[in-house]
Amino acid sequence: MSAHLTTVAGVNVDTRHWIGGERVASAETFTDVSPVDGSTLGEISRATGREAAAAVAAAKAAFPGWAATPRAERARILRAVADGVEKRLEELAVVETADNGALLRSHRRGVIPRVAHNFRFFADWLLELEHQDFTTHRGGSAADRGHTNHVSWDPAGPCVLITPWNAPLMLATWKVAPALAAGNTVVLKPAEWSPLTASLLADIAAEAGLPAGVLNVVQGYGSEIGDALTSHPDVRRISFTGSVPTARHIAASAAANLTPLSLELGGKSPLLVFADADLGLAVDLAVEQYDNAGQVCLAATRILVEEPVAEEFTRRFVEKASRLIQGDPRDEATDIGPTIHPRQLEKIDGFVRRALASGARAVIGGHRGEGQYYAPTLLTGVAQDSEIVQEEVFGPVLTLQTFADEDEAVRLANDTRFGLAATVATGDPGRAERVAAQLVAGTVWVNCFFVRDLRAPFGGSRDSGVGREGGTWSFDFYCDIKNTVTAP
Ligand code: NAD
Repeated sequence: MSAHLTTVAGVNVDTRHWIGGERVASAETFTDVSPVDGSTLGEISRATGREAAAAVAAAKAAFPGWAATPRAERARILRAVADGVEKRLEELAVVETADNGALLRSHRRGVIPRVAHNFRFFADWLLELEHQDFTTHRGGSAADRGHTNHVSWDPAGPCVLITPWNAPLMLATWKVAPALAAGNTVVLKPAEWSPLTASLLADIAAEAGLPAGVLNVVQGYGSEIGDALTSHPDVRRISFTGSVPTARHIAASAAANLTPLSLELGGKSPLLVFADADLGLAVDLAVEQYDNAGQVCLAATRILVEEPVAEEFTRRFVEKASRLIQGDPRDEATDIGPTIHPRQLEKIDGFVRRALASGARAVIGGHRGEGQYYAPTLLTGVAQDSEIVQEEVFGPVLTLQTFADEDEAVRLANDTRFGLAATVATGDPGRAERVAAQLVAGTVWVNCFFVRDLRAPFGGSRDSGVGREGGTWSFDFYCDIKNTVTAP
């Protein structure tokens, strides 16, 4: 077997970069460790600025050909990628679980099917766009003598896509699919804690007939190669999902070339439970926030409950949360897996210890589990301006506060520097509408959570991000939009 292949859960994964349609190795490697059992998954090529520049050069060289490829043909190839993902669904699922520790059953039934859907959806939407290409204004003003305005979504150029570890392939393809559909070429830099499925995607895309250089994958540390990618003058778009400090760094790096950015960042989203809510549903929504060991940007980690139902809500929450099974994510019965990395575990533990030291009470949890696990935790007695209420923990840690009325609920919900999402549980449609209108959030869910229609815009307000992706919004970002005005 090649020195550059590693076998993970029976699946061979190439540990090298994928640049210009070829596997390229770096002299240095980094060790990829599984959060499931601490085993070494592979020695992964660790890019330097040289490989980063080579990947951008490959994307630049491939751009004219791919941009000129008819839309129907681009869509056909992207659908073939979706077929390839579905064909290798089980392999992708087991490798992703080994790599990031999220539940195998979620990867099998939710996440990897969504990866395929990302490609199919944007292939379809690309063809929809074609029908929106013409916007004609005739006789609208004195200056308009019947000119025709022809709006086109032109490919922008090479795109750098940088993604995190909490849902590696799903978040990567949420960017890769629309960028490629738009006619752009891509350099994907997956997170160093979960590099494997991006490498498998490169294989799948090549098998599906994606021309060399259209998709490039560079492995390595963002701190080492990030600047080489984000300050490169040939890069025409940067889309980043990750933390706020990294986003600030990338924005500064991109500023030199005024490279347009899309930033999908962290959150500290609220779940508002009103006394008129279906309490069973509200409890289900709250317990759902422990999914992926709480390592979900959208997680509603601040539970706000109306005073009259707070006691009953807490009792039922504890009852349900205590039944959650924490353990090996490969086991179908498991509800909560490990945290991704010892450093993440330390971070979570630090947040909780400081909260407890400043007067918070752990209703459940409040401590580590075995190994890399953290016990699902609910904290009460937390001050609105405390660190645990204001900062993103990114672990299975929820806080519970109460409110007296609608005004207070909205005030507490919005009292954060984030604005990614909010969930409202209420039995009163009028209240739902009123409250949703006042919440600062990219997405508001009413009596539901995590329902995503890819036609809808997705993104965050305030520190949770810049811009929106999804449906036409993705094409708006990944394209240079041109208006051609023709005289009658
Ligand atoms: P992170 O910012 O540490 O890393 C994300 C990516 O950025 C990684 O690939 C990393 O290698 C790269 N990176 C690091 N330094 C860089 C630099 N100087 N230049 C360029 N790239 C660099 O974030 P993380 O810990 O991997 O992810 C967790 C964060 O992501 C949380 O804040 C979470 O809320 C957020 N997130 C947001 C969304 C969303 O859609 N809004 C989705 C998932 C995760």
